[in-house]
Amino acid sequence: MKWAFVGASNIASEWMVGAVRAVGDEVVAVVSGSAERAQAFARQHGITQALTDLGALAGLELDAVYVSSTNDQHEAAVLQAAALGCHVLCEKPLALDLAAARRMVEACRAAGVVMGTNHHLRHNSAHRQMREVLRQQGLGPLVSARVSHSVFLRAQLQGWRIDNPGAGGGVVLDIAVHNADSLAFLLGEYPVEVMAMTQQRGMSRGVEDDAMSLWQFASGLCAFTHQGYNTPHASNRLEILGQQASLEARNVLNQAPGGELVWRRADGDLSLRLDHDNLYVRGLRELHRAIAGQPNDLASGEDGLKSLAVALALLESARTGRRVPVSYA
Ligand code: NDP
Repeated sequence: MKWAFVGASNIASEWMVGAVRAVGDEVVAVVSGSAERAQAFARQHGITQALTDLGALAGLELDAVYVSSTNDQHEAAVLQAAALGCHVLCEKPLALDLAAARRMVEACRAAGVVMGTNHHLRHNSAHRQMREVLRQQGLGPLVSARVSHSVFLRAQLQGWRIDNPGAGGGVVLDIAVHNADSLAFLLGEYPVEVMAMTQQRGMSRGVEDDAMSLWQFASGLCAFTHQGYNTPHASNRLEILGQQASLEARNVLNQAPGGELVWRRADGDLSLRLDHDNLYVRGLRELHRAIAGQPNDLASGEDGLKSLAVALALLESARTGRRVPVSYA
């Protein structure tokens, strides 16, 4: 497929250009708000077209658009892609509010194109193995889930994320959406109600850089999630706890493949072998399967809308000090 990239971003540069090429596709254009950034990005990655206007995409032969501008700008790019009949892979969070996310999903549906959300973590081999164990009832009745997902934001990423709520900054929109997608991928459900507390703990200004939350699922299961920006020496952890056994994945919540997975059972701990494929490449293969109408594990636009709904409910809970039902409408 021929792709246009909207957003001369870090993620595009570090992971997605390579991932698109690894699946045999081509990046033919990059669109940036700045001509210098567009040209620099195009030069760096050997891309022919450096553009500053979404409208210019209409003049190109394209099959797909990857959107990795700041979160407030995703909608315009997705609507343009849908209008051009292009498949879309949009970064998370899809938008800053549910109405925008709904417009994006609807536009792609109406245009008959596939829309994916770049929730890459579900493509870590640990997630897929955990889902398999859960499908086989390998933990007995489930009790709870815990997600420790506090990172240190490297200097390069300490821009709009830590001081610009208008661009969609803050750790909840950034990381809690991934946690919602990971748990939904494993458990097959999204929370119905959440509570959260947020704080500014030395990294951010005007948005939260640390958040603790409790989630209640319709099945009765409860989850705890911690997401943060200012903990340089923390490992990350994803655990599902059952009455008979538990699964503990360590350091699988990263961009790069890696980590380990242990199935703790009455007869001892069993380390499960992980195949450490590039998560973004695997995500693009799933997008290709979705486009071909084959069974796939792509996080869809609707999945992105739901993960955003969870993050918005967390922010409302933190603001009001109340338990908040999650609205997916
Ligand atoms: P960046 O800050 O690198 O890029 C976002 C936008 O900021 C770019 O599109 C660019 O705008 C502008 N920008 C980039 N560099 C500069 C600069 N030096 N000066 C001024 N503006 C600049 O963001 P990320 O790559 O970290 O994130 C982009 C999107 O991807 C977000 O939605 C984020 O949530 C998501 N993301 C997803 C990840 C995943 O694993 N799924 C991981 C990381 C991010 P322009 O295009 O106009 O040039």
